[in-house]
Amino acid sequence: MPEPDFENRTVLVTGGSRGIGRACCVRLAQAGARVAINYHSRSDDALEAAKLVEAAGAEAMTVQANVADPGSVEAMVAAVNERLGPIDMLVNNAGVFEYVTHESTTLEHWQRTIDVNLTGLYLVTWAVKDQMIERGFGRIVNMSSISALRARPYGIAYAASKAGVVAFTKSASDALIPYNIRINAVAPGLIDTEILEGVDQATLDRIVAETPMKRIGQTDEIADVVHFLLSEASRFMMGQVLVASGGRVMLP
Ligand code: NAP
Repeated sequence: MPEPDFENRTVLVTGGSRGIGRACCVRLAQAGARVAINYHSRSDDALEAAKLVEAAGAEAMTVQANVADPGSVEAMVAAVNERLGPIDMLVNNAGVFEYVTHESTTLEHWQRTIDVNLTGLYLVTWAVKDQMIERGFGRIVNMSSISALRARPYGIAYAASKAGVVAFTKSASDALIPYNIRINAVAPGLIDTEILEGVDQATLDRIVAETPMKRIGQTDEIADVVHFLLSEASRFMMGQVLVASGGRVMLP
């Protein structure tokens, strides 16, 4: 368990209600942070995540918002500020994935994917960056994917959105480091969450066989990387993409 090095820090985790986001909420709560748990549609999951955060001894709040909607994002940030104070740390984790062929990659699918995974990340970052600039402190971790780094024939829009996250991370971190806002990204491989529901078992088995560690990852294994990138243990790192994929992708 990490040291409580985030005491008096407020963190917002988008898509914090389940999956990787929930594990991040719990890990950051263990580190002492106050945690704002964003969700889109499943309030019960968010309440369950809040219970886990509180069980770890931290203050929690749940906040509904669609990260792809500017008004919704503004309202979310205002609600977090009112209840937990200025946001010190942000985990841009909310994301959607649909397992689709190129024939099913319609403009509607493309826009839905880019809107949540990329525009949403921009909207939330821009909604919190001014308060970070004002206070001369900010730590941000963006959720990319190894799909950004390799061919993804059954997720073309998803791969493009996650490659956008990598480019956004590099450029925004360069622009914002003068204000002590440090931005990095994580690129997970296959992680055991509901997002994989549409992927058939044969494909999952093939991916595991191709993975040197011969298994899929668990959400806490990504939460540990997020904690590291938000913490001072990574203080000389910015604009980086850390791959956690059981060796399926190895960089450089
Ligand atoms: P998940 O279990 O499906 O959880 C997705 C989370 O995002 C939920 O909390 C969901 O909230 C939220 N969300 C979805 N659309 C949203 C929107 N428009 N506005 C706000 N929140 C929204 O997914 P996961 O596997 O934990 O994935 C988390 C992140 O990791 C994603 O960015 C994903 O692309 C990335 N990732 C996952 C894997 C993997 O194998 N699992 C691999 C690489 C990268 P509701 O439940 O309320 O809808």
